Amino acid sequence: MGIRTVAIYSEADRSAPHVLTADEAYPVGPAPSSESYLRMEAIIEVAKRADCDAIHPGYGFLSENAEFNRAVTNAGLTFIGPTADAIKIMGDKTSARTLMIERGVPVVPGTERAVTSGEEARSIALKVGYPILLKAAAGGGGKGMRVVTEETQLLKALESAQNEARSAFGDERVYIEKYVLEPRHVEIQVLADAHGNCIHLGERECSIQRRHQKVVEEAPSVIVDEELRTRMGQAAVEAARACGYVNAGTIEFLVDNHRNFYFLEMNTRLQVEHPVTEMVTGVDLVKMQIRVAEGHVLPMKQEDIRFRGHAIECRICAEDVRNDFLPDTGTILRYRPPFGFAVRDDSGVTEGSEISIHYDPMFAKLVVWGMDREDAIRKMRRALDEFVIDGVETTIPFCRFVMDHPAFIKGDFRIDFVEKHYQPGFLRKPQADESRAAALAAVLTEMDRTTGSALSSNGKGTHDHRCSPWLLLHRQGGTR
Ligand code: ADP
Repeated sequence: MGIRTVAIYSEADRSAPHVLTADEAYPVGPAPSSESYLRMEAIIEVAKRADCDAIHPGYGFLSENAEFNRAVTNAGLTFIGPTADAIKIMGDKTSARTLMIERGVPVVPGTERAVTSGEEARSIALKVGYPILLKAAAGGGGKGMRVVTEETQLLKALESAQNEARSAFGDERVYIEKYVLEPRHVEIQVLADAHGNCIHLGERECSIQRRHQKVVEEAPSVIVDEELRTRMGQAAVEAARACGYVNAGTIEFLVDNHRNFYFLEMNTRLQVEHPVTEMVTGVDLVKMQIRVAEGHVLPMKQEDIRFRGHAIECRICAEDVRNDFLPDTGTILRYRPPFGFAVRDDSGVTEGSEISIHYDPMFAKLVVWGMDREDAIRKMRRALDEFVIDGVETTIPFCRFVMDHPAFIKGDFRIDFVEKHYQPGFLRKPQADESRAAALAAVLTEMDRTTGSALSSNGKGTHDHRCSPWLLLHRQGGTR
C-alpha cells in the first residue's frame, strides 16, 4: 500500500523478523509483556515520536482492549479496528449473548448473566440440563471454562472456574451454557465499513482443537453448503450490525449434528487463522482493515465475494507433542520453512531466534491452498515434511498426524477429534541409540566432506592424523 511501517519490540524480540521488516522499530521495554507489549503509554509514545497516523493492534496483547482503543483515539491516532464500545460489549460474553438474543441470532441455551451463588447455579443447571459448561464472562483462550456432567461436580467446578477467571482476567464472573454434544466450531469472517456496509467472507472450520484451542483451521468447511453459508453469513452480519461493528471481525458459532448453529462469541479483531479466508477469497484482510480505518467505502459487495479452492492452516507451536504438549524453549538452530506455489509461511521467528517462556508458544503458521480439499491436504503434508526446525520441539508431528488421520481426511470430525483419536505417546520419540547413530553418521559424512578422510576407501582415511573424527567430534561440542 506504500505505507511506511513502524514496529515495536521488547528486548527479547530485538532481532525478530517483524522488527527487521519494518521501516523503523522502537523498543518498548524488557521481555515480560507486562513491561513491554502491554504498556499502552509506551506504545502510544512511540507512535507519536515516529509520527504514525494509525496503530494496527495485531491479534494478541491489546488487540481486544477497549481501554487501549480509547487511549489510541484520544491521542489523535487511528485505531485499526472497531470502536471501543463494540469491543466492550462483545468482550463480555454475557452482554454479547443478551444482544444476540435481542437481535434474533441463535445462542447456546443457558444464562444471560453471571451466576451469583452455588444455589442459583444448581437450579439453572437443572433447568438447562446436564452436561453444562461453566464459562467466564470475560473469557478468552479457553480459560475459566469447566464441563460439568453431573450435579455433584458443580460447586467444585464453579469455584475453580471462578478462581481461574479471577486470576486470568481479574473478573470472576462465570455463567452457564448448555454443553453442546459433539459440535463443530465454524466461524464467519465479517468486514464492515463506517458507511453502513457489512459483508461476510464465508466460514472457517476450526474444530480441530486441543483444550479448546484451535490447532488446524480450514476454509471452506466440509459441512457448510451454499444454503447454510448464506444463513450463517446473514446471522453473522446481523451480529456485527447489532454492535455497530466497523472493520474486520469474526463471529464464532457451534454447529450441532442437525446443522443448527449457535452464536458462541465475537472476536473483535483480526484472527490468527485469517489467512485461510484470504486464500479462498483472494481478499487481503489486513489491507481492507487499513482502508476501512482510513474511512473508505468497502470496495466490494456481498455478491462479489467468490470462493475458490481450499485452504488449510497449521499452527506451529514450540511444544513437545510426545510430552503432553509441554511448552519448549531454546534457540532455533536451523530454520527452513517450506515454499512453493500457494504455500504461505507466516513465521514470527528465524534461524537464531530464541523461543522464551515469555510469550505464546505459537511461533509460526503454515498455510496452503489447493484446488480442492484433497489437494490441500496433500500439499500440507508435503509442506510439513519439508519444514526444518532444529533446536526446539514443535507441534509439526501432531499436525502431520491430523493430516494423515482417516477421520480428518473424510471430514468426519467434531471438536472432540483430539480426545477421541489422539493417544498420548502415539507419536514415538526416536530411541536414544537411533539419535546417537544419526549423530555419528552426520559427523562421518561431514568429515568426509571437509577432509575427504573418514569414509574414504583408500585405507588411509581413518588414520589421517590431520584430523581425527573423535577430535573433531570433541571440538564440535559432543554428540549433539
Ligand atoms: P474462549 O473465548 O475462551 O476461546 P469460546 O467461547 O470461544 O472460548 O469457546 C472455545 C471452545 O470451547 C469452542 O471452540 C468449543 O470447542 C468449546 N465450547 C465453547 N462453548 C461450548 C458449548 N456450549 N458446548 C460445547 N463446547 C463449547
